[in-house]
Amino acid sequence: MSGPNSSYDPVEVTPLHPDEVAAMRDAALETIFRAATLDQLKEARLATTGDRAPLSLANREIGALPPQARKAAGQRIGQARAAVNAALAARRTELEAEHEARMLVEESVDVTLPYDRDPRGARHPLTTLQERIGDVFIAMGWEIAEGPEAEAEWLNFDALNLGPDHPARSMQDTIFLEPEDAGVVLRTHTSPVQARSLLSRQLPVYVVCPGRTYRTDELDATHTPVFHQVEGLAVDKGLSMAHLKGTLDTFAAAMFGDGITTRFRPSYFPFTEPSAEVDLICFVCRGLPPEVESCRTCRGEGWLEWGGCGVVNPRVLIACGVDPEEYSGFAFGMGIERTLMVRNGVADMRDMVEGDVRFTLAFGMEL
Ligand SMILES: [Zn+2]
Repeated sequence: MSGPNSSYDPVEVTPLHPDEVAAMRDAALETIFRAATLDQLKEARLATTGDRAPLSLANREIGALPPQARKAAGQRIGQARAAVNAALAARRTELEAEHEARMLVEESVDVTLPYDRDPRGARHPLTTLQERIGDVFIAMGWEIAEGPEAEAEWLNFDALNLGPDHPARSMQDTIFLEPEDAGVVLRTHTSPVQARSLLSRQLPVYVVCPGRTYRTDELDATHTPVFHQVEGLAVDKGLSMAHLKGTLDTFAAAMFGDGITTRFRPSYFPFTEPSAEVDLICFVCRGLPPEVESCRTCRGEGWLEWGGCGVVNPRVLIACGVDPEEYSGFAFGMGIERTLMVRNGVADMRDMVEGDVRFTLAFGMEL
């Protein structure tokens, strides 16, 4: 064994030669620079600073050098390793920033997309209006009466003085249920509930009957084959047209605002005598000049058509087992769709049946 060679020139030791160290450093920097992702950078870190990395191996050789050669070699290797570590840190910062920017784009939320595809349901404005009408009458001491939508032909027509030859019974208006001779129709109005009430209740009777009714109409802006009516019936001793007028004025004011009254125009219905069409004073212009001339709600009329009414025809009372000598009554009926259209300015009846929540939402979320 010989001692350390004091003339040993570290410059001649290949892995520690300045050119060689510079080449290892540059190769390491190149590897780091080429890392395109944080995962690749992790591999690059292992390849450039791990135990098997060229600079690490070179570093280990320093100890084998003669003492006088160690310092210069150590500095060279140290500087190279410092440059590699600095490059790793810089590349890491760059890649993290890129990663974050990419995540921001990839995970960003498109706020213009519909956010609520499954909105909570609300009740239909026809339903809430129907209930509000019921409340008006309950406050006056009336009762709500209901009946079946598939109704006996006799109750829908005959009991209401609509004889077998009445045009309303023709196939054009009425939906008959099979079998044809069963005498069952989809009720064409809520009036059969009046007949049912008279047949089943003790007198006096004060009932309102809101409900769904059916006719063979096509759906258009002003017609729908399924619609809603509210009918009222009062049968008591000494009732007259004056009681009817007072009741409808109260109803109108509750629906359309204080001071809104009604007027009657003579008309004809088989189940009332005398009969009248009910008009409302226009709740926008109140029929007052000069506003009435340009009023779009009543089209300058000052009045809005609302429904029909009259004193109950004695023949209806007799059909329902009530003595017309002792009792009299009045009845009225309105379309609930018509009331909603007038009251809320709905121009097209189809909006009410198409189920678009944007229509319903405009009335507020009543649950
Ligand atoms: Zn008006």
